[in-house]
Amino acid sequence: MDYEIIKINEHTWRIEDSGVRMFLLEGSDKALLVDSGMNVHNAKDIAESLTTRPVFLINTHADMDHVGSNEQFDSFFMHPADIPNYKKGESKSTVIPVEEGDVIDLGGRKLKVIHIPGHTPGSIALLDVDARVLISGDPIQQNGKIFMFGPSRSMEEYIKSLEHLEEYKGEFDEIWPSHSDIPVSCDLIEKLHDGAIDILEGKVEGQPAERFGRKITVYDLGFSAFLCE
Ligand SMILES: [Zn+2]
Repeated sequence: MDYEIIKINEHTWRIEDSGVRMFLLEGSDKALLVDSGMNVHNAKDIAESLTTRPVFLINTHADMDHVGSNEQFDSFFMHPADIPNYKKGESKSTVIPVEEGDVIDLGGRKLKVIHIPGHTPGSIALLDVDARVLISGDPIQQNGKIFMFGPSRSMEEYIKSLEHLEEYKGEFDEIWPSHSDIPVSCDLIEKLHDGAIDILEGKVEGQPAERFGRKITVYDLGFSAFLCE
């Protein structure tokens, strides 16, 4: 499968893996790969071709399109609430749990962990503190499809998480999601929040569809769609 490397600035890259996106963030001591792809299984090699710093891995969550190369790493950072979603017991890698408020210091570059459950119980966003960028994972998407069907998804938790993100709003100027448009503007958080409430309150008309053999309902808000039970 083809992938594409796009250099964002001197110390930051995004790696596009046929519809899902990874980020490589370099500090003066270490580099951090955010997610490990879906089709590629050599994301560590790709990252090491871009930086001379030792590469560490963090997952925004454990859905299969974000963990494709995890087993290349001896250990990786993940929120503990998503560990049950990760390959139950077969993993040779060690999980290093990260929680709300944890800061990963790459050397002159700090990433703050923000816990945003809903899409999955252990979904996190990462705030690139000095760059004032929020790396959001799947919960924030523009012109994308936000998967909210299947086990362990919760619209109620999702809505609370967007309210939690609003508390950080003065700390970032743009958002980098894992899918679809990039960058997206901060006011998307409020639009998704209000749209999710409208869906829960039955104010948005859903369309029946099928995904992975399941019957689902698609709620298209125009700027993004929610795929629900
Ligand atoms: Zn995803």
